[in-house]
Amino acid sequence: PLSKRCAVVTGSTSGIGLGIARALASAGAEVVINGIADERTIEALCEECGTLRGRASYDGADLFDPAQAVALVERAAARFGRVDILVNNAGVQHVSPVEQFAPAQWDRIIALNLSAAFHTIRTAFASMKTAGFGRIVNVASAHALVASPFKAAYVAAKHGIAGLTKTVALEGAQHGVTCNAICPGYVWTPLVEKQIDDTAAARGLTRDEVIRDVLLAAQPSKRFATVEEVGALAAFLCGDRAASITGTTISIDGGWTAQ
Ligand code: NAD
Repeated sequence: PLSKRCAVVTGSTSGIGLGIARALASAGAEVVINGIADERTIEALCEECGTLRGRASYDGADLFDPAQAVALVERAAARFGRVDILVNNAGVQHVSPVEQFAPAQWDRIIALNLSAAFHTIRTAFASMKTAGFGRIVNVASAHALVASPFKAAYVAAKHGIAGLTKTVALEGAQHGVTCNAICPGYVWTPLVEKQIDDTAAARGLTRDEVIRDVLLAAQPSKRFATVEEVGALAAFLCGDRAASITGTTISIDGGWTAQ
């Protein structure tokens, strides 16, 4: 259903972004992969997406820099004629009490997790409106809806992206352009897997104890969402049948934010 669609997925060399890139490629889209990875990984990813129904290429834009966020979209539009699907997924985390939160970390997280999405959207939006079709999916978080302590910048950025999502949805509503935020709880990614060993070592717990008592404490399902589940949701939102779904924050969090 996504053949002939060009999709840019930020932060798609790993984790959720990669799951989304795979899902869009499987649905037939031409995917631009972005993120930080070594050459061999990039080659393998492009080849893998190529063996799915769609095709893939790589753009190494560093999205901490607004000019590169703009250039990422411009290069894709120049190469494929237009950008039909924009997935803003790249993100980083920093955990610290607010009174000790390093201002440089605040700036970094706001720049990547919030401002980069503004810059890619503002660059892609006019041509989506002209084409009468566009799908913007922002990978937010349960932290777009509720907070946790020690994550001031991340929670602020994710709440911010929920607001940006609603605003862009209203501006695109009569032009066939939808904008939605996906709000995952804990998803099994390399990022989370690494946290488990670090947390286990730091707290003197087993891996199972960290998973049950620390990570999944807030998630009633007591299981991680998978990148395949998030990918499938994103692919649905990018299809024709999701035309009336816009301006929403869609939770995929095992019941976390229902509490
Ligand atoms: P990840 O670390 O596995 O992937 C992050 C991706 O972003 C990588 O491809 C990385 O190369 C890329 N990236 C980092 N800095 C970049 C930069 N300056 N420019 C371009 N790309 C850059 O993390 P993930 O767990 O897959 O997280 C992806 C998104 O999902 C983030 O926005 C995160 O906040 C959100 N999220 C994750 C979870 C979770 O449990 N894993 C839960 C909720 C929301």
